[in-house]
Formats: sequence, C-alpha cells, structure tokens
Amino acid sequence: MRILIANDDGYLAPGLAALVEAVRGLGEIDVVAPEQNASGTSNALTLNRPLSVFHAASGAQVVNGTPSDCVHVALTGLLPHRPDLVLSGINNGANMGDDTLYSGTVAAAMEGYLFGIPAIAFSLVEKGWKHLDAAARVARQVVEQVLAAPPSGPWLLNVNIPARADADRLPRQITRLGRRHASEPVIRQVNPRGETIYWIGPAGDAREGGEGTDFFAVASGRVSVTPLQVDLTDHAALPSWRTLLEAAR
Ligand code: MN
Repeated sequence: MRILIANDDGYLAPGLAALVEAVRGLGEIDVVAPEQNASGTSNALTLNRPLSVFHAASGAQVVNGTPSDCVHVALTGLLPHRPDLVLSGINNGANMGDDTLYSGTVAAAMEGYLFGIPAIAFSLVEKGWKHLDAAARVARQVVEQVLAAPPSGPWLLNVNIPARADADRLPRQITRLGRRHASEPVIRQVNPRGETIYWIGPAGDAREGGEGTDFFAVASGRVSVTPLQVDLTDHAALPSWRTLLEAAR
C-alpha cells in the first residue's frame, strides 16, 4: 500500500503533520505539499512557469505551486510508483457545501481521483487546530476502514470533522453537500499609497443545511462523509435546453 499525502495549507501546517502521523504504519507514505498556504486555489495548475521541488526536514517534498500541482507532479513523474490512495489535509477549517468548489484540500484529493486513484480529503471544521489530535484519530479510523474493505474505485470522499476532544467517538454520517449563502461583501480598504484595495470576504453561512447535508451532520455532532463526483452536467436540464437551443435550428 502506497499513500500519497498532500494539503493546501502548506508543508509546515500542523494538520499535514498530524495526518502523516495518523496513518503511519498503514503503508509507504510520500508527502508532497505546497510551499505556501494555497487555500482557496481550487483545482488550479501552474502553467506559466516551471515548478521546483525541495526536500523539507520532515521528509516532505515541497512544490512551489498549488495543491493540484503537488499531486499532479507527484503522479506524473516525481514519484517512482503510483500510489494506491491519495489523502489531503487535515485542513484548517471546514470544506462543506460550496466550499468544495474553491477548496485546495478537496482539489488535491480530486487530482488523485481524476487520475483514477481513490482519495480522501479531511477537514477540521473550526479554524485554529483545536482538537487536531482527535481529528487525526478520526482520519486514521476512516483510512483503516476503507483499506479493510476498499470499494471498487476510483472514489472521492470529503470528510469534515467537528473540532471536539471526543471527535473519534462521534457517529459518522454519509451526507450530501449543502449550499452556502453568497459570500460576505468584499472588504474595501485604502493602502499606504492611497489606492483602493479589496479583500475577498468570508464565505456565507449555510443556506441549505437541512437533514442529510454536511452542515447538518456537523452541527449535530457527527463526522460528515460526503462521496463526491466531478460531473458538473445539469442532467435534469438537458431536455429543456435541447428544446430551446437545438430544436429551433
Ligand atoms: Mn486550507
């Protein structure tokens, strides 16, 4: 068993070290992580400059690029062997609902999935690394369980873990993604040169957070596990669009 571990908070993030420690002994581990915090970079690949890789003291290989760059480079030339499993995280903060579209943590796992390798993204629901040790135990349990009876792949799981000391004793719930409200407004400031600058505002609160969603599970004190897929096609809308745009010609 070969396990590739990446993240989006950067190679020095406590969540990465915790995940590496958590799965130690379950396989041969390679860590390939971004040099800088690359949260919110989604599936971006760096195409306008070459990438460099260095070895950190931790043993991680560090890429001056995005989370997707890390996994992409790992799978397409950096690693001598193809991993059997890609893990990402543990992220500093939740990745639920619409977050999954922007998340570098989910994207790193998704890059493995797109290459046909089973993958799991782990996120600690509150920022600040509180109860990271308990979250790491959850990650270990989940990985052990899927390795004991692996579903035929590839598959992609998005795991959100409440920041609680007893996280590893909480029930799990298989969920669907909820939806968030639109983001908070941008924060406008004036820089020291008198120019107006804009900070992207925080993500919105849950809008669709009802029973069965990731938001609901976490709010109810459960570990949320959402199986993800990548097809963005609006299948239900295909007939009406056919009528509107094909039939008229
Ligand atoms: Mn992050």
